[in-house]
Amino acid sequence: SQSSPFLHPGAIAKTDRLSIVHLKRDLQAPTVLRDHDEDDEGYSEGKVVNTRFGSFPHTTLIGLPWGTQVRASKVDTGSRGRRGQKQEKKEPQEKKRKREDAESTEHPNKRRESEDGEVAISTSAEGKEEKEAETAASGFIHLLPPTPENWTSSLPHRTQVVYTPDYSYILHRIRARPGSSIIEAGAGSGSFTHASARAVFRGYPGEADVNGTSKEEKLGKVWSFEFHEQRHQKLGEEIIEHGLDGVVQITHRDVCEDGFLVEDHSPKADAIFLDLPAPWLALPHLTRSSPPKPSQESSEAATPLANGTTEAPTTPFLSALNPAKPVHLCTFSPCIEQVQSTISAMRKLGWVDIEMVELAQKRFEVRRERVGIDNGAQRGLQTTPASVDEALARLIEVEGTFKTFHETGEKKVEAKKDKVNPNNREAILESLVDRKLYKEGNLAHRCEPDVKTHTSYLVFAVLPQEWSAEDEEKARAKWEVKI
Ligand code: SAM
Repeated sequence: SQSSPFLHPGAIAKTDRLSIVHLKRDLQAPTVLRDHDEDDEGYSEGKVVNTRFGSFPHTTLIGLPWGTQVRASKVDTGSRGRRGQKQEKKEPQEKKRKREDAESTEHPNKRRESEDGEVAISTSAEGKEEKEAETAASGFIHLLPPTPENWTSSLPHRTQVVYTPDYSYILHRIRARPGSSIIEAGAGSGSFTHASARAVFRGYPGEADVNGTSKEEKLGKVWSFEFHEQRHQKLGEEIIEHGLDGVVQITHRDVCEDGFLVEDHSPKADAIFLDLPAPWLALPHLTRSSPPKPSQESSEAATPLANGTTEAPTTPFLSALNPAKPVHLCTFSPCIEQVQSTISAMRKLGWVDIEMVELAQKRFEVRRERVGIDNGAQRGLQTTPASVDEALARLIEVEGTFKTFHETGEKKVEAKKDKVNPNNREAILESLVDRKLYKEGNLAHRCEPDVKTHTSYLVFAVLPQEWSAEDEEKARAKWEVKI
């Protein structure tokens, strides 16, 4: 495929293209827009996204500019009920897949993140959700183009994934840029794969530049490796569906055993990211020259021949690394013991500038604490019945505001007219005119409980370019000519 919605989303949502339905912060769902029902059961509206904020037939989404706010369909096409019946049949299979995937995850170390929070769209088969959709069927969603960031927060999890704060930092540190060649292992659910594909993309194979010359040599590429058969297969399908097959090459391989050459071809990697349980076992395959064999292994490997000599190596050593550049590496490990083994192997194999980093991302909420039982208590005030009433009234007001945010039913509009929403922009600006901030309580900030980012230990290192006397002569000659 020569076009990817991740790389060239265009201006509008198109039929048969992946889009992201954004319901609210941290709640997004990927959907491929269809203008017809695949099962051809005569639904005129095509596929329908059923959410807790209402139903959104795909035909109402196709052709809209990205970023559009879309109101839920007011027409009850009956699809919700019928869809519900269909999805009910599919549900056990879906659950089974999730359970099997969870059970087959090889990663021996538990990551902190729970996978449960990821379910984005309500499947109307579940009675409770169905009810919710029935009652609040007139909300809205935003229609977004797919990006590595929103794909990470909505992708079907087959393993734990690397989240955006981590991969942004990693890609920056390993110097991923258009034209880079990156090795990635293991690929897992493909979160890092998508982000790195965008980072290195410079064009598609076969494309010519403005002068008509092939860009082949300058193209960026992600060499991805995964040893779990189903995950490898699923990610391979996704890469094709997402039009990234010109940028990502995925190989089914145990990299600790068989290294990183693909069909005897070197990726000539400029950068490497290892998200493996035992990265130190993969490191001996990432050297510039044939790594020294441990003495025990070499005596076992040497096959004595009839004449008493040992078998000579048949194929010359081919490095998976770019010989013309220093190579930047990052490993991602949840446990400090893994870090220790990794760093020990790195030192033996000549890696330098070794550094370990842990990212801890927190989101802060800053606001004024106007009224409230806690607020009074915090300041050492006695909470009187009046302040309790005031706090309750404020709570009710806030709850009402939240509810109306996703509802535009007639009654609510009426109610809004009577009572100005205090969080409305105009109302806030108006209230600022005579505002006495000190009367509104202390300025407080709170840390949100846990932001969805798994914090692992990131180990960075560099393998310098090999430098011979001949290289020095060449460099000198160039330098002298310039002077
Ligand atoms: N980085 C991925 C992402 O962002 O979605 C998640 C990777 S997941 C934590 C680790 C993956 O490494 C698993 O899918 C596992 O099957 C794979 N893996 C483990 N050991 C491997 C090996 N020796 N060779 C190739 N893949 C391996």
